Amino acid sequence: MSGAQGSLRRRAGTATGAQHPCGLGPRTCAAGAGFLADAPPRIAARRRLTCRNVIARDDALAALEAELFDLVVIGGGITGAGVALDAASRGYSVALVERDDYASGTSSRSSKLVHGGLRYLQNFDLGLVREALLERALLVNLAPHLVRPLELLVASFEGKHPQRTVGVGLNMYDAMATERLRLPGRRRRDGDGIEEWSPDRHRVIDGEEVKRLLPALAGRDPTAAYLFYDCQTDDARLVLTVLGEAERYGAVMANRCEVIELLDENGRAVGARCLDRVSGRELAVRAANVVNATGVWADTIRSEELYEQEEVPHIRPSRGTHITLPYDKLPLNAGAIVPVGDGRTIFTLPWLGRALVGTTDNDYEGPLDHVPPDQADIEYLLGACNRFFGIALEASDVTGAYAGVRPLISTGDTKKSVDISRRAELFETSSGLVTITGGKLTTWRRMAKMAVDRIVEREGREAPCRTHEIPLGQPAGPDDLAHAGIDDESVALLAHRYGYAAREVLAESEEDASLRGRIVPDLPDLLAELPFAARHEQATTLADALLRRTRLGILAAPRLAAADSPEARAAAVAMGPGLGWDDTRVAAELAGWREVARAEGLTGAPEPAESAAA
Ligand SMILES: Cc1cc2nc3c(=O)[nH]c(=O)nc-3n(C[C@H](O)[C@H](O)[C@H](O)COP(=O)(O)OP(=O)(O)OC[C@H]3O[C@@H](n4cnc5c(N)ncnc54)[C@H](O)[C@@H]3O)c2cc1C
Repeated sequence: MSGAQGSLRRRAGTATGAQHPCGLGPRTCAAGAGFLADAPPRIAARRRLTCRNVIARDDALAALEAELFDLVVIGGGITGAGVALDAASRGYSVALVERDDYASGTSSRSSKLVHGGLRYLQNFDLGLVREALLERALLVNLAPHLVRPLELLVASFEGKHPQRTVGVGLNMYDAMATERLRLPGRRRRDGDGIEEWSPDRHRVIDGEEVKRLLPALAGRDPTAAYLFYDCQTDDARLVLTVLGEAERYGAVMANRCEVIELLDENGRAVGARCLDRVSGRELAVRAANVVNATGVWADTIRSEELYEQEEVPHIRPSRGTHITLPYDKLPLNAGAIVPVGDGRTIFTLPWLGRALVGTTDNDYEGPLDHVPPDQADIEYLLGACNRFFGIALEASDVTGAYAGVRPLISTGDTKKSVDISRRAELFETSSGLVTITGGKLTTWRRMAKMAVDRIVEREGREAPCRTHEIPLGQPAGPDDLAHAGIDDESVALLAHRYGYAAREVLAESEEDASLRGRIVPDLPDLLAELPFAARHEQATTLADALLRRTRLGILAAPRLAAADSPEARAAAVAMGPGLGWDDTRVAAELAGWREVARAEGLTGAPEPAESAAA
């Protein structure tokens, strides 16, 4: 037995002191780490998950204080979640602390694409594209319910054929996508009957097919289009899913737990002093290793050490704005690449029943706590859609808006941030602090591997990375979920969002029939998801549930952020029992949510949400 497995067994049995989320010991639970440690990967891939997602916050805080960990990860975005899963699955005892809510940073504000990045080919950044394409192939197979293939079109008009140079780029994209190019077949079964996805080659489609896939283009009578494939996900749910897997390997995690300083012993970082932002109490998390995975905030942790020893270039944030629009205003059944001049493009994508449009990419100098979308950017995106689709979208059509900040590494030169590489950067400083930042949502697994490899190497352990074979959640289709009284669209969404764990959401609605209803009428998210989020996913505010457990906060923002929104009230009331909220607390949560919506500019309206939203 390797050292890694030995350590895994130790943690699986006792180390956290906190109860395993299914209420059974991990050895007893089929999804527990003890089972997985002994299981060959194929068996692990078929395990049935009956456990809940993330350990309860109070239990996690108690364990964080009581235990000595091998590793504490700072930051609960996709990078931190990945580091926690990677390290825990190699046998490390892992703690993770997140200052705000999981995925509240850049990891809930992306374009939601798991992709190679066709446009990086323009810069001949072939290594980056190749790496991301290989990760795309892995992720769509590890989490087929959550990371799904998406058709994307590059259309042509006025009798013209699609540009030949685009075809050349797509040929390269196809060739780089798989180790051995498989022709054709988007899903195939391996020897064990498990479906695996690999992309078809791109092809040219005629105008009629373009209109079927992009009904919004009907008025422009497109001639043809290149059709190629990438993948799409729900970024915040991906973070929660990776965290759920890390937890199953014994990682202990708490949100609203901010690192205020590193613990120091003879110049070595030996943990982190944290502020519990719910109780206002401080706690020390002791650990032999510290990983800083705080994205755009990376240079706020031991900044002098980073700047002086590693000559870390200053992180220069770049803001990207997205908007969402109703299907009837911008009907899309596939994604489109929309030219906006200067060789730049934006995406228009079908996502969770809406059209998702973005992104802009401009240097940003404001505060990072709330990054609202720029009004000019919203107008720019609407204008780009109107020109390309030949339609007349208005600001009042916007159903949500958000901005994210890229943790781009400034090289100190005067190039625009759009030209700076999206490559991951790892820094190790004299205290032993390992900082990992940059990269993409798509490449989280490689970034995590880089960071944990460094720790394994310096400790001389024998603990290879296993995340390439660890399934992320358990896929399920609507037919796998018994769902009396719930509409098909909602069940399909539950299967996508939670996989097999959707059974536990449905169990909430079995206990309380009022939870079978939708949160907002035109989108399939269910009220039952809210108590589930409170009980099992550490959602502690209404904003957590609306923005990062469901995504309604960016899909139905004007409706939910309106002063007397009955839907927001119903959501708070549904969530309340899981957190012991009384009427006063429900009212406070509603006010808190509206304040978040205002500060984040979620409605896309220039005025504060309370006065703007109808
Ligand atoms: C507009 C935009 C679009 C994008 N689209 C895509 C895309 O389509 N596909 C793709 O692959 N990539 C995309 N990306 C890139 C991708 O989203 C990011 O690379 C990725 O989300 C970064 O994740 P992270 O975990 O490193 O950072 P974050 O998600 O920002 O996580 C860092 C976390 O650290 C926490 N934190 C900070 N300080 C502390 C502290 N003191 N104590 C505890 N916690 C702390 C923060 O609260 C935050 O949650 C996009 C980025 C942007 C901005």
